Amino acid sequence: MRPPTPLLVRWASGLELAGGLILQLAPFLAFASVPVLSLQVPVPGLFLHGGGVLVCGTLAVLLALLKRPWPGAQLVLAATSAGLLYWDVTLVTERTAYTLGRVQLSIMGLNSFLAKVGAEPVDLMPRGVEPADFLGPGIQVGALGIALLGIGALLEVLGYGRAGKRWASVLVACPRCSGCGQRVGFQMAFCPGCGRTQGGGRPCARCGAWTLEGHRFCPACGHGLDGEGRTSCRRGTPQDDPRTQEPDL
Ligand SMILES: [Zn+2]
Ligand SMILES: [Zn+2]
Repeated sequence: MRPPTPLLVRWASGLELAGGLILQLAPFLAFASVPVLSLQVPVPGLFLHGGGVLVCGTLAVLLALLKRPWPGAQLVLAATSAGLLYWDVTLVTERTAYTLGRVQLSIMGLNSFLAKVGAEPVDLMPRGVEPADFLGPGIQVGALGIALLGIGALLEVLGYGRAGKRWASVLVACPRCSGCGQRVGFQMAFCPGCGRTQGGGRPCARCGAWTLEGHRFCPACGHGLDGEGRTSCRRGTPQDDPRTQEPDL
């Protein structure tokens, strides 16, 4: 028997998947929007460090689809993407202004000629334009993906932690029982070391269907659950527990 995936973990997996997909999309959007003559030319993230963000997003999606959760790796991918995005923000805000300034200097001759013939001079850095104005929407989209991925990974740790596993062990994908420290699998219903239920609930004593905390009756057979074994860490297997056994008639 395997316990149902905790609700929090299901939400967390959804957030991780969404975050990874958004990180895959972001590099195809403009990380920079550079004014070239009166036109705003979008520069997709792939021309900056968006390739790295794309790889992180792809790995995050693959990890989210794996049967074996690994929230620590998701956090590393989110942090790596955040670093790459920050690098590009710095590049765009600092280098674009610098490069445009250099180009403006190099076309001084052209501008003085244009002024002589009475034409409008070419101004690459019009007044009122801040370096942050060069940032494209891909940066915000990437930041959203990073936030979803990070929150999803943290909720996954929290969800498995509430279901009877040590949070640090979940982070590194080697889950251990929070009661006794024994290695337990994500699909195990009970800790082999102390019998603690894994999955935030307990099986029905009559039919064996998994019931959740707060259930007073088994949803499968209607058996009353009040007063049955709680999800506490106890010695011995659940079968040894007289409270979960059928009464001898
Ligand atoms: Zn245990
Ligand atoms: Zn039942």
